[in-house]
Amino acid sequence: MYDALKARYTFGCPARGETSVPLSSFRRLERLPGASHPVVYRVAFECPCGEEHPGLVGDDDLDWAPLGLGAGTFLNLMTDRLERVDAELGAAAARRIGEGEWPWSFFCYPECRPRPVFPSSFFLLAAAGRADGIGLAVRCPACGSVSVNVVSHAHVDLPFHNDGAVGVIEHVFATDALRTIEEFRAELHSASFDARRLLL
Ligand SMILES: [Zn+2]
Ligand SMILES: [Zn+2]
Repeated sequence: MYDALKARYTFGCPARGETSVPLSSFRRLERLPGASHPVVYRVAFECPCGEEHPGLVGDDDLDWAPLGLGAGTFLNLMTDRLERVDAELGAAAARRIGEGEWPWSFFCYPECRPRPVFPSSFFLLAAAGRADGIGLAVRCPACGSVSVNVVSHAHVDLPFHNDGAVGVIEHVFATDALRTIEEFRAELHSASFDARRLLL
């Protein structure tokens, strides 16, 4: 499913049979009700064939596989503490997190501060204005509010690659705002962005 060497996910494609894409090619992530071990997300991704296709991803593939961490790992974002770690597989990632480095981060606009995050908190992604820019709608794991950042592809695709500064839409979104990718693209085009530093 996730290939750590290529940092890509493998999905089925009606035209090619099989295709692989980085996380930044995901367009929508939606948690499926019910399943909790693992939690499963229905995703829509932009395929190299030019079409958008659906796929399913477990939270282990979404949040842990890119770090080389297996099942049985738990990182508590509320306390910023690593509570249980697969010692062998993810030793390097665990050490970096222990030293205060975060694999992914975003700027929470309502809280006015950067926050650590995992990809399962991303729910909409779309190409954004600037070159190499990707618009990212995130549900904050700490306060539950929605923020929109514009980041680089590497910021999304490569764990521990955090942009020094990100674009932030200065708007407090209702929790049920940005329901569709079309709404999100319209917001990205009409909104103004402010640059915020992303030092945790
Ligand atoms: Zn395709
Ligand atoms: Zn927040």
